[in-house]
Amino acid sequence: MLDIDFLRSRLQGLALGWPLHYAYRVSSTQDEARAAAQAGAAEGLLVLAEEQEAGRGRAGRSWWAPPGSAILSSLLLRPTFLPSHLLGYVGMIAGLAMCDTLEELPGLSPQLKWPNDILLEGKKVGGILVETLWEGGDLDAVILGLGLNVNTYFPPTHPLAEVATSLAQVTGHQCAREPLIYGYMYHMSRYYHRLQQGWSPVPAWKDRLVTLGRPVWVMEGEARWEGLAEDVTEEGALVLRREGERVVLRVGDVSVRHA
Ligand code: ATP
Repeated sequence: MLDIDFLRSRLQGLALGWPLHYAYRVSSTQDEARAAAQAGAAEGLLVLAEEQEAGRGRAGRSWWAPPGSAILSSLLLRPTFLPSHLLGYVGMIAGLAMCDTLEELPGLSPQLKWPNDILLEGKKVGGILVETLWEGGDLDAVILGLGLNVNTYFPPTHPLAEVATSLAQVTGHQCAREPLIYGYMYHMSRYYHRLQQGWSPVPAWKDRLVTLGRPVWVMEGEARWEGLAEDVTEEGALVLRREGERVVLRVGDVSVRHA
């Protein structure tokens, strides 16, 4: 179980990460944060849980986490200062903030895979999910979900074993989740403040993106084709070279796999 009193006392000094909403079991932390946003909760609210009945990733895909093993978080933001085409910045700074946090642990070299995965040793250790709430044509809230496999164990027979890992599996020991949550919110607060000042996270995000310069498989529904990942746009779209042509893939359209 998370030490919520400890977390509350630490997070209160930050711009983001409080108030803290904690429940043992939820349908998903995204649903909880969305309901809070609709009820008028202020920016900065952080939802944490030990278990999700219906944890999700992009496009309705599910997120697996045994109770008590992972960080399951949703942060409520109201970044009305961002034009809508730059809302991708929110997911980018979440990736940067978690990489900075993990890098503070000895021996870890986190990387990002376009658009929203956190990798350790080439396998997925975390996922980021950005959902938006609109009122009329105006942005009301962003619900920033982040799941991190901390003490999760993927045995060799597990269906995700080839692609997923956890902090415990990489370091060889159990890891406390509280300092990681604090680190994530500390760095998020810092990066969010920079966004408010007009800073672009794209160059820093590009530096972390292991996808760039590599051949990738692109899955578009049933279709599957190969291209070279060349660049990303300011909006966070992936620029690919395919048979001499430049193809721009928007976040949300497709899945890519490193070839
Ligand atoms: P991908 O990153 O594989 O292109 P995606 O971006 O749609 O796909 P997410 O939305 O981040 O992926 O997460 C959902 C997918 O992640 C699931 O379909 C499953 O393959 C994988 N997955 C689910 N639970 C975990 C977990 N705990 N750790 C790592 N991967 C997971």
